[in-house]
Amino acid sequence: MIFGLKRKMSLLSVAGMFFSCFAGFPSRAENEAKSSPSAAYGMAVDPQIAKALQQVSAEHIRVNIEELVSFGTRSTLSAQDAAAMGSGRGIGAAREWIKRQFESYSKDCGGCLEVKTDSFMQPAADRIPQPVELTNVYAVLKGADPENAKRMVLVTGHYDSRNSDTLDASGDAPGANDDASGTAVSLECARVLSKLKFPATIVFLTVAGEEQGLNGSAHFARMAKEQGWNIEAVLNNDIVGGDKSAEQDHSVVRVFSEGLPAAATEMEIKRIRGLGGENDSASRQLARYIEAVDEAYKPGVTPMMIFRLDRFLRGGDHYSFNQQGFAAVRFTEFREDFHHQHQNVRTENGIEYGDLAKFVDFDYVAKVARLNAATLESLASAPEPPANVHLLAKDLENDSTLTWESSPGGLATDYEVLWRATSSPDWEHAQQVGNVNRATLKLSKDNVIFAVRAVDAQGHRSMPVVPEPER
Ligand SMILES: [Zn+2]
Repeated sequence: MIFGLKRKMSLLSVAGMFFSCFAGFPSRAENEAKSSPSAAYGMAVDPQIAKALQQVSAEHIRVNIEELVSFGTRSTLSAQDAAAMGSGRGIGAAREWIKRQFESYSKDCGGCLEVKTDSFMQPAADRIPQPVELTNVYAVLKGADPENAKRMVLVTGHYDSRNSDTLDASGDAPGANDDASGTAVSLECARVLSKLKFPATIVFLTVAGEEQGLNGSAHFARMAKEQGWNIEAVLNNDIVGGDKSAEQDHSVVRVFSEGLPAAATEMEIKRIRGLGGENDSASRQLARYIEAVDEAYKPGVTPMMIFRLDRFLRGGDHYSFNQQGFAAVRFTEFREDFHHQHQNVRTENGIEYGDLAKFVDFDYVAKVARLNAATLESLASAPEPPANVHLLAKDLENDSTLTWESSPGGLATDYEVLWRATSSPDWEHAQQVGNVNRATLKLSKDNVIFAVRAVDAQGHRSMPVVPEPER
C-alpha cells in the first residue's frame, strides 16, 4: 500500500515531548486528542462543500471532452481564421466553444462569472516557426467578501493539443487526455462552483501553447505577477484522464510539487540550505493541503504526493506560475500510457496509438474534478494565511516562540501551530493557540518544523505558513 507510510510516520510523533503546556493551553489529554494522526492536519467538513461535490458530473465531463476532441486538432499552430472557425476545426473554434461554455454557466448563475480572454502575439520560438496569436480563456467568480475578494485561487488546464509532430498544424490531434481532461476539470469546477458564493475569488483558466513551450501559462502568470494578483494557489490539471491501461490505478492521482522554489532569492536559498527548508516550499504546503482536503471530503481519488516538480522529460503549466513565485502543483493520473499521448492516431503491430476519448475514464476525471473543487472551495472559504510569521531565534533555548501578524481580511478567529519531525513528509500535529499573535511551545525548533495557519469560526483552515527565523 502506497499510503501506509504516512500513517506510520504519524506514529513517530513528537507528541510525547509536549507535556508541559503554558497556562491557557488545553490539558494533555486534549492535546493528544487534537494531535491524533487523523485530526493532526484535519479540516472540519463544511456541508456546503460536501454537497457541491455531488454536483460534479462524469456525464458533463464526458460531453465536454468529446466536444473538445471533435475540433480535430487544437494545435496552437492550427488555423484560427474565420473559415477554419466556421468549419469547426482547429484551436480557434475550440477557443470560441470554451468561451461559450463559460458564458452559459454564467448565464445560469445570473451573470456571476466574468468571462475573459488573454490574447497576445507569441513571437517565433523553438516550437513556434512564425509569430502566432495565442489566447487563454478564463472565467472569474469574484469573492463575495470585499475584504477577501482580492485573494484568488486558480484551477487550470491546457486546451491545445499535439500529435507525434509538435509542428503539425493540421493533422488530427484529439488530445482527449492531454489535455481535454484538464480543460474539462476547469470547466466543470466553473459550472458547479458558480452556483455558490465564497469570500475569496476563484479563477477557472484554460490556456493555449502548452505543447509549444508553456507559452500561454507563461504569459498569464507574468500578467498576474505584473498586475499584483494575490494568487494563493494554482491547481494545474494535465493528463488526468485515468487512461484505461491494465496497470492503471484509478484510485490515485499524482500531485507534483516543487521543492526549492523556482523564484527563491539567493538569500532564501542560503536559509533553506542552512536550516532545512528543502521540503517546505509554498507549493509543497499546497500539496499537503490537498491531502488534508482529500482526508476530509473523500472525493474517491487519493492524492499521491510526488516531491518533485514534474515527471522526467516533461514539464507543465504549474511551472510558469512557480517561476513568478506562486504556489502551484500539477495533478496527473497515476500511470500514463505513452502510446496514447503525443502520437498520431494509427494502429501499428496491433497497438493503437493516439489520444482518443475512448481511452479516458470519465468517472476518474470526475473524481479528480471533485478533489480540485473541494480544494478550491476550502481555500476560497478560508481566512487569508497569517502574515509575517516568525520563529524567534535570538537566543539559544529549548522552547520555541512563534510570532505572526493577524490574517488580513478579518475572517480568522483562531490560529493553529502545526509541527512535524524534520524527516516527516506531512504535518503530524496541530495545536490551537487562540486568537493571538504569539505562542511558545515546549518543543525545540532544532528538532521539528513549525508552521502557523489561520482558522475561521466554521473551521476553515488557511494554507500554513512556515516561519522565517528572526534574529
Ligand atoms: Zn499536457
